[in-house]
Amino acid sequence: MQEIIKKLDQRIAHWQRLSTYKTDQIEREARTKEAKEIKKLIEGHTCEWSLTDDEVNAWECNKCGAYWVFTEGGPVENNMQYCPECGRRITRVIE
Ligand SMILES: [Zn+2]
Repeated sequence: MQEIIKKLDQRIAHWQRLSTYKTDQIEREARTKEAKEIKKLIEGHTCEWSLTDDEVNAWECNKCGAYWVFTEGGPVENNMQYCPECGRRITRVIE
């Protein structure tokens, strides 16, 4: 997911750099808008989990605020692929 978002950002930047001929401009604007919409859609279905308190090993979802304490490891070590509260796919884990 994160790679798709990165690719979309690259496409948006690419189209914004394209030449400024009138027809190209219309095409560029349409493609930029489309890429931004896809990105927004993906981001709406994904979330990031971060370690908020390493003393108790507490982790939090950046979209719904779910707060979980693991006895060992984090979301990756516990094979969590989706947030258990909002159901979004976890695409990034920040320690
Ligand atoms: Zn969540």
